[in-house]
Formats: sequence, C-alpha cells, structure tokens
Amino acid sequence: MNYAGRFAPTPSGPLHAGSLVAALASWLDARAHCGRWLVRIEDVDRPRCVPGVAEVILGQLARCALVPDEPPLVQSGRDAAYDAALQRLRAEGLAYDCACTRREIDDALVRQGRAHARHGERIYPGTCRAGVPPRLRGRPARAVRLLTLRGAEPVCIDWWDRRLGAQAQNVTEAVGDFVLRRADGCWAYQLAVVVDDAAQGITHVVRGEDLADNTARQILLQRDLGLQTPRYLHTPLVLGADGAKLSKQNGARALDLADPVAALQAAAAVLGLPHRPADTPARWLAEAVPAWAGIIAGS
Ligand code: GLU
Repeated sequence: MNYAGRFAPTPSGPLHAGSLVAALASWLDARAHCGRWLVRIEDVDRPRCVPGVAEVILGQLARCALVPDEPPLVQSGRDAAYDAALQRLRAEGLAYDCACTRREIDDALVRQGRAHARHGERIYPGTCRAGVPPRLRGRPARAVRLLTLRGAEPVCIDWWDRRLGAQAQNVTEAVGDFVLRRADGCWAYQLAVVVDDAAQGITHVVRGEDLADNTARQILLQRDLGLQTPRYLHTPLVLGADGAKLSKQNGARALDLADPVAALQAAAAVLGLPHRPADTPARWLAEAVPAWAGIIAGS
C-alpha cells in the first residue's frame, strides 16, 4: 500500500503532552505500514498563530526523533489551492456568500426557537442561502459557506473510525451550512485540511479524538470536490486536572523534553503501549513500531 500519514499542528503554541500523543501515533502508524510520515503546519487561522512557533514545534519533534520524510507543507502558502477548491464548489452551486454577523445568526436562531448550544457552534439558520438579502448587501467582508442540502435532502455521512468504530452524523442538522472562508478572509480549517490531505496524498489520518466530530464535514467536502477519503483513527486525549481535554487553558505546559524518551513513554502510555526503556528516542521509536502494529492489527 502507498501509505502516507501526517501530523498537522497549528502553530498557536509549542507541543504539549496531548499533541505529542497525536504526533507519535501518526508516526507509529506510518512506520507500521512502511509508509511515509509528513508534517503540515496549519497556520490558516492567522490570529491564533504565533510567529516562530512552527520552528519550535519542528524542533520539539526532532528532539523526539520524529522527523518528516518531506519538508513540511505550510498552509499560509496555499491560498491558490484553497481558492481553486472554493471556485469549484461555487461553480456547482454548493458554496455561497454569507453576510450575517454572529449577532444576526443568534437572533435568527432565537426567532426559530433554536439554541446554538452544540459545542458553542451556531447552526446557520440559512439567511443567505438563497442569496444575500437586500438589507445585508453592501457589507465589505463576507464569509463563504458550504450548502449542506443536496437537492432538498439533508446530508448524512456514515464513516468508520479504526479505533472508535462506526460513526454517523447528519451534517445538516448537527452542524448546518459551515464556513469555508471566514469573514476576516482566513480559510476555514475544514476546507484547508481537505484540500491539503488530498494534495499530500494522505491515505491515513491519525489525530486526537477531539477532532473526530469534524470528520463527517471533511468527508462531505471530499465528496463534493471529487477527492479520495482517507482512513481515520482518532487517538485518546490527554485530560487536564479538570477532566477536560488538555489545553493551554487548563494547565498544558510546553513539553519537558530534557528527557525525550520519558516524554515518548508518557505519550505511548496514553496509546496503550507497554513501558519500554531505551537509551535514545530513535531506538525507543524503532522498538515501539511492532508494539503499535500489534495494537492496530485488523483495524
Ligand atoms: N491543526 C489541527 C490541530 O492542531 C489538527 C488538524 C488535523 O489533524 O486534522 O488541532
């Protein structure tokens, strides 16, 4: 098999214990399949990205002997590819301009008797679906959304996760018409990730379970753009002291890489791999590959 996997960090801060789990799992899975392991710097969300952090992350990975097989792909240089995908969706009538502010979306949802509680996400009420209403025209910045009706039908995506098993989402009801390009001009993660997974020839996506909820949207976009759907495996999360996903808000510190083997061992424990001593990260990794192959056998 021509396996290609990837680790796709957002350079909003250095790697923490949770992100190392995803990096390690994606590396192990690529090596267990004798495949390539690629890195992509996901810096489309410009306000969240911190200059210099991409280099810090690559340095942290290298200290753990996690070295990509090709130079990293950097999303901030990929505008033309995202624009081409957006034009294709527009040409097929699947993408449309939206002039609504958040406030207007909230007000419309209240009028429709719907809350926007799901993960704090607003399910778009469809105000601009049939064209921006005259009262909203003339505003400078506009988001672009994906239409999540096919004909008059909602879109239901069934997919398989190698760890979590059968998954299903009614994208129309659970998410609604989601953003492809934001009102501030930034490309949305969903579009960039789909275009780049295809451009890098990614056959297997291995990433944290917090991202599992995005997968149905990404599969829908792959279908709309005529792209292959990779296989997916979502890894367990590292939880903070408050039981929530580890993040900078609940105490995630930059990884302590004074002892990179210890950091890899801690990440491996989250993945269910046995403790195994080694004198260098490269040796530790080489020995972890067969253990990972045993865990994923048949998945
Ligand atoms: N850039 C995303 C993050 O750092 C990961 C995207 C992905 O793996 O699909 O959370």
